[in-house]
Amino acid sequence: MNYKEALKHPIFEVIAKAASRLNLDAFVIGGYVRDHILDRGEHKDIDIVSVGSGIALAKEVAKDLPNHPKVQVFKTYGTAMLRYDDMDIEFVGARKESYNENSRNPVVENGTLQDDQNRRDFTINAMALSLSKANFGELLDPFNGIDDLDKNIIKTPLNPDITYSDDPLRMMRAIRFATQLKFKIEKASLDAISKNKNRIKIVSKERIVVEIHKILESEVPSTGFILLEKTGLLDLILPELTALKGIDEIEGQTHKDNFYHTLEVVDNIAKTTNNLWLRWAALLHDIGKAPTKKFVKKVGWTFHAHEFEGAKMVYQIFKRLKMPLNDKMKFVQKMVFMSSRPIVLAQDIVTDSAVRRLVFDAGDYVDDLMTLCEADITTKNPKKFNKYHNNFKIVRQKIIEVEARDHVRNFQPPVSGEEIMATFNLKPSREIGQIKDVIKEAILEGDIPNEYEAAYLLMLKKGMELGLKPVDKQIKP
Ligand code: ATP
Repeated sequence: MNYKEALKHPIFEVIAKAASRLNLDAFVIGGYVRDHILDRGEHKDIDIVSVGSGIALAKEVAKDLPNHPKVQVFKTYGTAMLRYDDMDIEFVGARKESYNENSRNPVVENGTLQDDQNRRDFTINAMALSLSKANFGELLDPFNGIDDLDKNIIKTPLNPDITYSDDPLRMMRAIRFATQLKFKIEKASLDAISKNKNRIKIVSKERIVVEIHKILESEVPSTGFILLEKTGLLDLILPELTALKGIDEIEGQTHKDNFYHTLEVVDNIAKTTNNLWLRWAALLHDIGKAPTKKFVKKVGWTFHAHEFEGAKMVYQIFKRLKMPLNDKMKFVQKMVFMSSRPIVLAQDIVTDSAVRRLVFDAGDYVDDLMTLCEADITTKNPKKFNKYHNNFKIVRQKIIEVEARDHVRNFQPPVSGEEIMATFNLKPSREIGQIKDVIKEAILEGDIPNEYEAAYLLMLKKGMELGLKPVDKQIKP
């Protein structure tokens, strides 16, 4: 089969000519070929394999390109990379690999194209297109990857047991590709992943997180998490999630399976936002429910303060997975911590003061919080479903109105601590906090507008109630 049309971009002609000058055979391999055949849009990473030095080929190619882009050489890996026209092009010499028990980094020696295809993770990632003059565009597909693409199957070229044990990152990749491409993992592969799950320990946390991110960024992320759970990997990577599995019954009372509920929420939110961190928040929003679950007589199942517990667990998870403990982590924590707030609003009559409090507490994240909470509606009762969604529409509308009128987002008290001190001739003391709180509460409750004059008068009133005397000159008319 010939796929010349996949190689229309002038870069392939340049590589072909450079390879011919060096007397090498060169091929495009992996994701570019796969995604072209799947018609998945342009793949910006191009992998070139050459029978002979990939580094030499990269340097030869750079000479022929306008502006001679810089070639980055990775000596340890025997690879080279250059950027051209928005594309990352990676060159590697065809190689044979052998692994040892404790590392996913193989011992490497030069090999043929077939050797190189043998070391690839999946049949659909092992397809190569020739860049040689004699058969430019010809598909070299020793494992019939094209058939697996057609049947939507993830399968390893060689024995899956060995393939996954050699480099256990491939287990995560299999599940990630199955999720991204909506493919099935072949049974032998799935069994081999379950069998080798403990090998995941030799994979760095950072690499695992890259794959989790790709799963979360997919259209239907639950596919990946269900596969991770079925193969036993999830229990090793995110045991906080598997702890949510199951339904308990006491005195005829049950609660929902919070694991599958969580996955539904993640799928829901994937339909409304591409914000990866908001998707993380959806994934973790209920993790506090496992450690806080209790059965209380006459009340039923409770998860008291699970949001608080959950927010603490977010930090522990990010730390364990070596994810940055930065503002993204804080964002996820805040979303988890506040995740039940709007639901309460949606169940009740929506008052202005409740909305003002929500905007005050959520600050700039109030829209993200609403998105999370809308995704959290997974009730199968259509009446309740419609009621909650309608109430959330009202809440969103009220947020806009309250915002326009009261400006409580990123609230700054209209009367400052310094002014309170000057007015009553006070040193820093408890009373200042009390007065500030009264003003804040009055504004959030809607008792006074969020304006200086009203706040100033309330400050005087409250101060005097506390037995303080204003310094005369400070009293404004
Ligand atoms: P994507 O860009 O969507 O992640 P890709 O297939 O291009 O897809 P890369 O990680 O860029 O993924 O890898 C390029 C190619 O290198 C793959 O198609 C595959 O042939 C090979 N490959 C990558 N990682 C492994 C691995 N751990 N084991 C074996 N082969 C691998």
